[in-house]
Amino acid sequence: SETWEELPLAPPDSIFKLTAAYKVDTFPKKVNLGVGAYRDDNNKPWVLPVVRKAEQILANDQALDHEYLPITGLPEYTTGAARLILGPDSPALKEGRVVSVQTISGTGANHLAALFLSRFYYHGAPKQVYLSDPTWANHHAILKNVGIEPISYSYYDPKTVSLDFDGMTNSLKNAPPRSVFLLHACAHNPTGIDPTQEQWKVIADIAIEKNHYAFFDCAYQGFASGDLDRDAQAVRYFVERGVPMLVCQSFAKNAGLYGERVGALHVITPTEPAADRVKSQLSVLQRSEISNPPSHGARIVSLILNDAGLFEEWKRDIRTMAGRIIDMRKELHLLLTEELKTPGNWDHIINQIGMFSFTGISAEQSKILTENAHVYLTTNGRISMAGLNSKNIRYFAESLDKVVR
Ligand code: PLP
Repeated sequence: SETWEELPLAPPDSIFKLTAAYKVDTFPKKVNLGVGAYRDDNNKPWVLPVVRKAEQILANDQALDHEYLPITGLPEYTTGAARLILGPDSPALKEGRVVSVQTISGTGANHLAALFLSRFYYHGAPKQVYLSDPTWANHHAILKNVGIEPISYSYYDPKTVSLDFDGMTNSLKNAPPRSVFLLHACAHNPTGIDPTQEQWKVIADIAIEKNHYAFFDCAYQGFASGDLDRDAQAVRYFVERGVPMLVCQSFAKNAGLYGERVGALHVITPTEPAADRVKSQLSVLQRSEISNPPSHGARIVSLILNDAGLFEEWKRDIRTMAGRIIDMRKELHLLLTEELKTPGNWDHIINQIGMFSFTGISAEQSKILTENAHVYLTTNGRISMAGLNSKNIRYFAESLDKVVR
């Protein structure tokens, strides 16, 4: 028989499918709230001014070549990236207990972390990782790819459109000891709902008591609050408490380097010799997967992280992005509650943080928004706040108002 005759056709990725449908729509007021990428007030992708500057520096540097990077990546990039997430005074960094490997953005970090755990963590126990319900859809696929079974833990309470903290702590308590919990470091995708500092403390207490492993995914540092340090608080706190853990890091959103695929995996180990062993095994895995990571994006981020002037400029650019998103939240909230008097409580719009807002509308209402109003969003009711701007926010608020009435 014909080769591939038995091969089933896979469905297209839902987000990319949504973007394709938006692109061919000719309705002038169409709005794309699907994809998680920053847009400026003119609905255009934004190259950060500090990134332009770093690219100029690279373009003029005659000493640069296109040789391979080391297997674990550009050293000044990975050390800068570790300092950024763990903090310049991190005891774990000072004690040489952190292994940092450059990866293919956050997705690659998640994959390498999952692959590493699947090989070396379980010692015969069932290969499982606990994921928040809901989570970034790709988490499920990434885990399954390496033979790990995703298990859901309670996270979101649709009745209150807020964190189901009791459900979450019960999941943590009821899981077998040494379970792996994937935690969003900040700006939870898709809900925009994070635990408070007090709640993180309780989560760490249970993790320590049960000897759980924290698998942090940090795709939005700086994007949530506009402050890089504040958005790293949960991660740094867990390091301080000594929870066994790793962190997946992405510069896609906070540096606007989506297509350059700049990321890192940081494994925090108990001792320096343990770090050496982990690094040796990660290197073996990385070698067979990608040989060595790409250099351009890492060079850009390395310049920004290691130059005080550029670093300050980057922080300004991050505040510009986070600030615009926070402004859109306030404006949408105002339009719904004050002007349109839309039925229901919309306070979650201003309480949630980061790129996304979980509106709480049903799949049916989401579909009607797309079909009748040409507003493109995922059917879970999640909207990307970055898709809103001063020109389309009123149209969106009015469309949302209509659909919930
Ligand atoms: N993790 C989460 C929760 C995300 O939302 C994303 C991107 O949407 C990523 C990881 C990885 O993104 P990237 O591979 O572009 O860095």
